[in-house]
Amino acid sequence: MADSETIVVIGAGVIGLSTALYIQQYLSPSQSVLLVARDFPSHESINYTSPWAGAHYRPVPGSSPQALREADQAKRTYNYFKRVAADEPAAGVKLIQGIEHLEAPSAEYLDSQGMRKLHAHLDGLRYLTKDEVPAGVKWSVTYGTWVVNSPVYCAHMLRKFILKGGQMKQYTLADVREAFSVTPKVRTVVNCSGLGFEDPKSFIIRGQTCLVRNPVSATITRQNADGTWSFCIPRPLDGGTIIGGTKQPNDWDPNPSSETRARLLANASKWFPFTLESGGQFDVIRDIVGRRPARKGGMRIEVEKLADGKSIVHAYGAGGRGFEISWGVAEDTAGLMLENGLLRAQAAL
Ligand SMILES: Cc1cc2nc3c(=O)[nH]c(=O)nc-3n(C[C@H](O)[C@H](O)[C@H](O)COP(=O)(O)OP(=O)(O)OC[C@H]3O[C@@H](n4cnc5c(N)ncnc54)[C@H](O)[C@@H]3O)c2cc1C
Repeated sequence: MADSETIVVIGAGVIGLSTALYIQQYLSPSQSVLLVARDFPSHESINYTSPWAGAHYRPVPGSSPQALREADQAKRTYNYFKRVAADEPAAGVKLIQGIEHLEAPSAEYLDSQGMRKLHAHLDGLRYLTKDEVPAGVKWSVTYGTWVVNSPVYCAHMLRKFILKGGQMKQYTLADVREAFSVTPKVRTVVNCSGLGFEDPKSFIIRGQTCLVRNPVSATITRQNADGTWSFCIPRPLDGGTIIGGTKQPNDWDPNPSSETRARLLANASKWFPFTLESGGQFDVIRDIVGRRPARKGGMRIEVEKLADGKSIVHAYGAGGRGFEISWGVAEDTAGLMLENGLLRAQAAL
């Protein structure tokens, strides 16, 4: 039998967990996976983004290489989440109605052919009729989508990974190359660290939201004419509702702003169909501030070969779409590993 080998996956966010689970299917008997991360699903840190996410899937137009790549990854993830919602009730994924309201749609949204081409896979996609569109809104669609209780989903994936024989180690790496030394016999390191290690293209996009107990039956996103966003995302398994939210590139403020909270809640009570059981008031659980790990040009998904026969497989920089593209990214990352002979070609049973 060949020498045993440990594949190290750095990062226990939605990208690292999805990738680790995906590659477990393609391990040869001599290979195993060790997940190394500073933060795991039970930890709370502003620099560990996944548990702070809404999270939902919504149609995003565009024709740039990044937009097309992400649309393809999002489509595959959409189909995967439909299966998870049906087969794994404890995962915290639910299929519900999604609605988009835009006050000032860009040309990309108005290109109905392009939109349909990218999103033909969405269940029940249709434009809203004039009498369904709220005042001030110029473009509205409805579609079937998924919402996910992000901390529950991450914990669920970690549990699956461990049950399939995966190992985990809490450790903060000073450099990506250090991962080759955290355990013996490491030939491949998969870098799902969110921002990467000192990549000049990486940056953060701050997001502030508010988690409330009030339930809502659909996930609605409204893009306002002044460039701000309003959205509500119910969290399955009685996880409350996320009311959002801000998108602030390079803003490192870790503290929630009370003015922002007041604005988000005021807009939500105007625009979203919350039931009045709390007397028109929001029952706030907590403010949330997170840092989306973004990268100019989109995610880095590539193999870096080192001189000594070792490889680093990079998969980081998911920005604001980590959940939406997670399974497609895991598939693409594992695909690169297969092409480079780092995994075996046949899925294990
Ligand atoms: C308010 C908000 C709302 C959002 N809503 C949505 C949404 O609706 N839909 C959607 O798809 N996405 C949404 N996102 C974006 C989504 O959360 C991110 O894209 C996603 O969480 C990124 O996952 P990741 O695994 O790349 O990074 P992370 O979750 O940050 O995980 C990075 C991992 O790498 C580890 N790590 C980093 N550096 C080191 C080191 N030096 N040593 C060891 N380990 C290290 C960390 O500990 C962690 O385990 C939202 C984000 C925010 C903030």
